[in-house]
Amino acid sequence: MIAVPSRTKEILEQFDLRAKKGYGQNFLVDPMIVKRVAEEAHCQGGVIEIGPGLGALSEALAMVAPHVVCYEVDPDMLEVLRVTLADYPNVELILQDFLEVDLHAKVEELYNQYGQVTVCANLPYYITTPVLFKLFQEEKLSHITVMVQKEVGDRFAAPVGDPNYSALSIEGQYLYHIKKLFTVPGRSFNPSPAVDSIILQFTRKQQLPSLDEKEFFEFVRLSFQQRRKTLYNNLKDAYPNIKDALQNAHIDERKRGQELSVSQFVELFNILREGEQG
Ligand code: SAM
Repeated sequence: MIAVPSRTKEILEQFDLRAKKGYGQNFLVDPMIVKRVAEEAHCQGGVIEIGPGLGALSEALAMVAPHVVCYEVDPDMLEVLRVTLADYPNVELILQDFLEVDLHAKVEELYNQYGQVTVCANLPYYITTPVLFKLFQEEKLSHITVMVQKEVGDRFAAPVGDPNYSALSIEGQYLYHIKKLFTVPGRSFNPSPAVDSIILQFTRKQQLPSLDEKEFFEFVRLSFQQRRKTLYNNLKDAYPNIKDALQNAHIDERKRGQELSVSQFVELFNILREGEQG
């Protein structure tokens, strides 16, 4: 197995490599963790991995999934992966910055071939949010299972009223059921990061209200533009009808964004849009 300390050290020495901080490289060296993540990641169809590194998680995924597509930005890693994953013909390696990938086309291709597409990855911490928002645009991704820094996990999974509850929590929770699967201690990586990580699982909601998502998310972000301000003060310039809309939604105008549930945000947004149209 690749995901053990001795094998990882050996691979790095063999290829004369070190983990590159700039690419957020922290390699998993805990076989139980990679096995457990792969088992919980709904790998019955096509699986997309972002940042395979030396192949620790990819190997575990390849053992349970029909097909795994790995996007890696670092050419040095690709050279390694061609060797470490040589025994897995169901792994497709692609050297590309994931943020540049035509993800929609790939998801369609995998969906047509395997009937289900999921994501499983230990994400590079410096692009966690843009990667997740890129994934969120793909309705056909039924499950996204990712390892992220604990504080990012706390923000996505925060319930209403929690200090971490933010626009990020609402956007994520609007689209997905979000579950924290388990925490991963720093010692499970080489090199060990200063902070603990957590495995988050996003399960796409089957039925979503019909609204303009882009506009809704802009509205949510605006509601939190200044956290200490009330909803009314954050929204009054962009939405002149906000006072009436708050009243119609039975929401006290002194409330702040962090006090509104996801469904209250949806209701308020719909009332505002109806007011604009009518
Ligand atoms: N999956 C491996 C593991 O768990 O041991 C490595 C995870 S490491 C935290 C993140 C990986 O993402 C690194 O291999 C890094 O080179 C890669 N990476 C960083 N930026 C990327 C990008 N924009 N697109 C694709 N891969 C990227």
